[in-house]
Amino acid sequence: MRQSHLFTKTRKEAPADEVSKNAQLLIRAGFVHKEMAGVYSYLPLGVRVLSKIEGIIRREMNAIGAQENRFATLHPSEPWKQTGAWDGVDVLFKIMSRTEKEYALGQSEEEIATPIAKEYALSYKDLPLAIYQIGQKYRDELRAKSGIMRGREFGMKDLYSFHATQEDFDRYYRVVQEAYFRAFSECGLIAKATEASGGSFSEKLSYEFMVLTDAGEDDIVYCDTCSHCANVEVSSEAEGDLCTKCGQSTLKKARASEVGNVFDLGQKYPKAFDFTFTDAHGEAQYPIVGCFGFGTTRTMGVIVEKHADAAGIVWPESVAPFAVHLVDLSGSDSDKKEFVEALYSDLLRAGTDVLYDDRDLRAGEKFADSDLIGIPFRIVIGKQSTPDSIEVVRRKDGTVTKVSRDAILKGAWHF
Ligand code: ATP
Ligand code: MG
Repeated sequence: MRQSHLFTKTRKEAPADEVSKNAQLLIRAGFVHKEMAGVYSYLPLGVRVLSKIEGIIRREMNAIGAQENRFATLHPSEPWKQTGAWDGVDVLFKIMSRTEKEYALGQSEEEIATPIAKEYALSYKDLPLAIYQIGQKYRDELRAKSGIMRGREFGMKDLYSFHATQEDFDRYYRVVQEAYFRAFSECGLIAKATEASGGSFSEKLSYEFMVLTDAGEDDIVYCDTCSHCANVEVSSEAEGDLCTKCGQSTLKKARASEVGNVFDLGQKYPKAFDFTFTDAHGEAQYPIVGCFGFGTTRTMGVIVEKHADAAGIVWPESVAPFAVHLVDLSGSDSDKKEFVEALYSDLLRAGTDVLYDDRDLRAGEKFADSDLIGIPFRIVIGKQSTPDSIEVVRRKDGTVTKVSRDAILKGAWHF
């Protein structure tokens, strides 16, 4: 894409009320646009990153046999009243229409997914069933803060699984956890799994996936030697205690952000919707339900919190808006201009996802924008560039290499 065509522009200042690093950088670089507290529009650069994150979790979900849906987000009030969540869930947005009919905006989708599963899962042979979606959620959060990490409208991947037996549920629970670890790691994040009580969903055990960051809202204690980790809010363990799991190290305390979680919902929802299946003996049974949330937009915010420096964002390659930033510094040199234009066409033809800064600006301005936007590699075409020697800069650490034009077209900018 030509940067001269990109309708968004970088800006020097973020809105004064945005204090979080993720919102400041994402707004300044033109990834998101703030509509009001807790509500952001995602602009072309932002959509590219969010789509990459969604692609990563989608691949993991498909690999564990889950099937993608797009559930409604404007909900009838009836299922919410049936489960008691209409009055029980404080963050639920309720809407009254002009004909005085009541609706809810989806804050989670058990009330939609369970009746759908009920219609199709009639026998134990139809189970397990795992259905998910990637989409918008709406929550009347009291305080929208930390930029895109806590919104009133936000993105989530939510998976609902239905099982004939507790054993099968336990098996799948571990399968999803492994898929989550892989997905967060591919997003450039180290996630730790805490054990926590199920909160408003159930009293059963749940796991929260936490990434250490001062921009988070949770306090956790964790062990450096093993993977043990607990949320301070619910755990009896404290900083300095010997790890209860490995007994090797004392626990450390840190701020963290919850990027995903998994719940054992038991039979609560099937009971509310009178959803039974016929087991192998011909008996009617309630299935066991699992609910697995993955915050796609919060993950994007946490990535920015973790991968940024004084000059801007430093996207991990897996989620970067473009693979490479081609910067034209040919100035008035028409031969060099032809050279960079040809390189751009050839990169596109080679299938490279490239942002081409073809704007008529000074080098300093182009580099400042490039650093702020944070594409992992920058190819610079200036007066000194020759087909045998083109400068490639790695955003992460500023490492510079000289690469030939042919090598670049074979993807050798990737070092
Ligand atoms: P939190 O304790 O942070 O409010 P939650 O327990 O309400 O999270 P879930 O309802 O299980 O979270 O949602 C699943 C995932 O969706 C969370 O792990 C988080 O990544 C994301 N999420 C939840 N609320 C928000 C929000 N207001 N803005 C952005 N992402 C959110
Ligand atoms: Mg919440």
